[in-house]
Amino acid sequence: MTVPESFFQKTYDELLEEFKLNNFPAYGAEQVYAWVYKHFVFDMKSWTNVSKAVKAYLQERYSFDLPKVLWHGQSLDGTRKFLFGLNDGQSIETVLIPARDRFTLCVSSQVGCAIGCRFCHTGTMGFKRNLEASEVIGQLMAVTTMFNTKITNVVYMGQGEPLHNFENMKQATLILMAERGLALGQRKITLSTSGLVPQIERLSEFPPVNVAISLHAAHNNIRSELMPINKAYDLERLLQAIRGIPLKAHRFITYEYILIEGLNDRLEDANALIELLDKKNSKVNIIPFNEYPDSAFKRPSKEKTLWFQNLLNARGLVCTTRMTKGSDILAACGQLKSEAEKLNLWI
Ligand code: SF4
Repeated sequence: MTVPESFFQKTYDELLEEFKLNNFPAYGAEQVYAWVYKHFVFDMKSWTNVSKAVKAYLQERYSFDLPKVLWHGQSLDGTRKFLFGLNDGQSIETVLIPARDRFTLCVSSQVGCAIGCRFCHTGTMGFKRNLEASEVIGQLMAVTTMFNTKITNVVYMGQGEPLHNFENMKQATLILMAERGLALGQRKITLSTSGLVPQIERLSEFPPVNVAISLHAAHNNIRSELMPINKAYDLERLLQAIRGIPLKAHRFITYEYILIEGLNDRLEDANALIELLDKKNSKVNIIPFNEYPDSAFKRPSKEKTLWFQNLLNARGLVCTTRMTKGSDILAACGQLKSEAEKLNLWI
């Protein structure tokens, strides 16, 4: 018996094409996509306007299974972290960050990660495998149906390097953006990369979403210490590749900068950042380091963080500090490691 394909793997255009090939009317694809992605109803018995023939066809070929929630916990600030079990027994983490007018979902793109950034808990897991597009979409669908919450923003900042999984993340992005489905706008999706130069050079093949670069240092020696990838693609090569990213008018590249006490929070680091980045289209997002068990680095004080931010702003480089969310349940940036069960916060 063949294993049914996940429906969450299909873009709208692919479904439409399949309907045409099978002589089903085009509006049928629209109806099905709307039931799934606008109404979040996966039980075909409730699809009142869809023909029996279409239902029978889909029933035979597709599964609507979602990743299983193995655990979830809620931070004191409202951030929720989920541990999802996948079909092959692997697990990943996803974080839901509520704010006044939006719900941002931080999705994983891989099981583990090969990049091995030294400040990152995920990096200590090593790389297990890429996620399928359906497993990326599954994270959003599972959280949405669990809380009846409309996700307004998606960031590819969970476990994994999304550009290492280029084709599957591209497919997932097309599904997120489909007008007939989830209809997330390109400004509502942010792809964050550690700086994989060959894939950055291919970003014109990717849907035009926001791009965030994990920079974290403006000196090669410090960046190489934090991120081994800098030994393969140093700051000069990285910046050259970034200059080739097709940017629409008034769009920015965001540079994430994890501020670490005594390492990259000095006056010379701020000066080097100002020298390095193009003020016209760069935004720096400071993330005070989130400590985790056995982490090698320390979080700077609030005063130091504010001093660093003010310095950049005063010199014309737009800079904000990201509020830390969910650190009490290890859901903050760089803290994900698929071992939430150890926190003893069962549903
Ligand atoms: S920060 Fe991102 S790219 Fe670096 S090890 Fe962690 S998950 Fe991988």
